[in-house]
Order: sequence, then structure tokens, then C-alpha cells
Amino acid sequence: MFDQILNAARKNETHVVRFLRDLIAIKSLSSQEEQVIYRVKEEMEKCNFDEITIDPMGNILGRIGGGKHIIAMDAHVDTVDVGNRENWTIDPFKGAQKDGIIYGRGACDMKGALASIVYGGKIIKELGLENDYTLYIVGSVQEEDCDGLCWQYIINEDKIRPEFVIIAEPTNLGIYRGHRGRMEIEVRTKGISCHGSAPERGVNAVYKMAPIIQDIEKLNDRLTGEPFLGKGTVTISEIRSTSPSLCAVADSSTIHLDRRLAATDTMESAVKQIQELPGVKKAEAEVVVLDYAVPSWKGLTYPTKKYYPTWLLPENHPVLDCGLKTFEGLFGKKPEVSRWVFSTNGVAIMGMRGIPCIGFGPGNEIYAHMATEQIPIEHLVKASAWYAALPMVYVDSD
Ligand SMILES: [Zn+2]
Repeated sequence: MFDQILNAARKNETHVVRFLRDLIAIKSLSSQEEQVIYRVKEEMEKCNFDEITIDPMGNILGRIGGGKHIIAMDAHVDTVDVGNRENWTIDPFKGAQKDGIIYGRGACDMKGALASIVYGGKIIKELGLENDYTLYIVGSVQEEDCDGLCWQYIINEDKIRPEFVIIAEPTNLGIYRGHRGRMEIEVRTKGISCHGSAPERGVNAVYKMAPIIQDIEKLNDRLTGEPFLGKGTVTISEIRSTSPSLCAVADSSTIHLDRRLAATDTMESAVKQIQELPGVKKAEAEVVVLDYAVPSWKGLTYPTKKYYPTWLLPENHPVLDCGLKTFEGLFGKKPEVSRWVFSTNGVAIMGMRGIPCIGFGPGNEIYAHMATEQIPIEHLVKASAWYAALPMVYVDSD
């Protein structure tokens, strides 16, 4: 059966490539995914999915089968912007194809994976691989802006709770079992403004921030973690201040922290670490975990804290085992088992809701968000075969 699946994937190569190049040609920044969602819908219809739903947030869920075991495969449909156009040697929205590689914004993060999971579904339909499972192929929204929010919605409001979820973010065809979490924190100091010609009459909020900045830099060196995902980190990504004029003492100052969380960190522990810094205490600075409340392309706002918990699937987990078995069955060798450096929707699915996740996706994450973004066509084919085979392997091992 593995051979048949691989053959079917090869036969679909030109179709999956065409689909990916179309997806790349449709710009889809976070909260602006409408057009690309409808392109996915069109392809799911062509591939004979059993039911296609666009939920009130704007995620698309293509269902295959109606069996007992609920399984989902997730690819976000949004991409980051192109940045400085001069860094691009090709048109980011063309889906250029050269020597077996597709180039363009979203090729690897993660329209390639989106095309592959849809074609995984197509192969299941073609070969009649439906079994005692219900498979949801999900094109999710707003991931680049607020990872996991779409899946908070799918689990809480669409009421879909899979037994496990495949995160199709790029793994270079390895199998990944976690990544560090992250959070966005602000530290705010207050001052008393006065005329800049006599600063001794006021209290400068920027000066109160200065020792805090040094404390944060030192805190980064002290952070720890476990060996697989690595240690937590903290860095200052922005600093700003206010004053009545440029000829006055600053009356407020704010720093924005990008805090990456180790498997041993929680939101509470990370906030407490900041609150206990000597500079923060002395300045009586405020420490705030930020909120995210940006409307989706459908106009739906689903507020959340900018806290994206770490997740790590145990090494001996049965879902990981199925992933390995599927890989070995198809390709006759063992995959690399690793972790992502960046964050994914797994923060909500497993980090918040405890639903097991594993990662498997085409493309190499080093090209994510880069002007050289690219994906090998061979990866698209192999990944779609793996997606088609996995639910069968899972149900058979039950
Ligand atoms: Zn991504």
C-alpha cells in the first residue's frame, strides 16, 4: 500500500505544483486571507473532499471520512510581508519554478505544506484509503500575527477536538515533537515631566528604565531550560518614551520584551522574574503581558493574551511512533526527529489544550520569512504521500 500511495503522490506532482504556484500568487497577509481561502476551497472541491466549511473566524476545514478517530492536519494560509523588495531577485508573488524548486513568499512557510496536505487528502480519496477516521485538512488564519489563536477558536467554538494534530510547518521532512513557547511583555516606567531647561524639577522615566535594560540583558544569561528544546531567552525588541515636547523631561518609558520560553517556564514564572529584577522594583515599573485583539478577515475578534506556551511531545508517544512508522514504510529509512526553532499553532493545540501534536512538513525552516524563500518539489510529493498514509497507519495500530 505504501508503494501505491507514493505512486499516486508522484502522479499528482504537476497538480500540487500548479496549486502551490497559484497559492503563492495570491498575497495573503494575516487578517487578509479571504482570497486564498477561497482558492483552497476550490481545490478541495476538485479533490472531492466530503465537506468543506469556512468557519466564522475564516479558517477553512476540509473533511474526509466520518469515522471514530478524529485527526487534523494544519497549515496556516497567511504569510509575512515581503519586506524590502530590493532583497528579492524574483517576483515574490509569481511562484517561480526552476530546477525542481519553487520560489516565492510562502513557498516554505507554509503554502507548500498547505498544498501538500490538500493533496494528501486527494490521494486518500483517489485510493479509497478512508477508514475508521474523520480527517480535517485545515487552512488556518492569522498564525503569523498570533500563533495558535485560530486553533483556540477551532477547539473552543467549532467544537472540534482531534485525537492528535499534524502541524505541517517546514521540518525538512523530519518529524518534530515540540518547540519553545514565547510571550510578549511590556515594562513601563512613569516619570514627572518638566521643562527640559531645568530637568532637576522632574523625574525622567527613561533614566528609571536604564537599569532595567541592563537587568534584562543579564537575565538572559541566567535563563535555563531542558536540553531538547533549549534554554529560554529574553531580548528587548523595542523602546519608546513620551514627553510633552522634545524640550521636556520624559514622563513615560516602555520596553517591549520578546521572551522565548523553555519547557520549564510558565507565564507566571516569566512575569515574576521580571517583577523581581532590582531595577523594576526600584522604579516601581509595571510589568504587563500584552493582549491580541485584531479582527480576522471575516471581521471576528477573538481576544487572547500574547502568551504562547511551550509544548513537547514525549519521545515514546504513540502518535510519534505512527509518524515514524509511516515514514519508514514510505521511504525505507528513519527520519530525523527534532524540534522547531520558531513557534507554531502547537502552542494552543498542545501547549494550552493538551492535544498531542507532531510536526511534519516540506521545506526547510531556514528559508521562512526570507527573500530566498523556496521549497523543493520533491518535498511536496513526499509530504503528500506521508499525509495520505498516516491516518491509515494510526487506525491500524489502534
Ligand atoms: Zn509558519
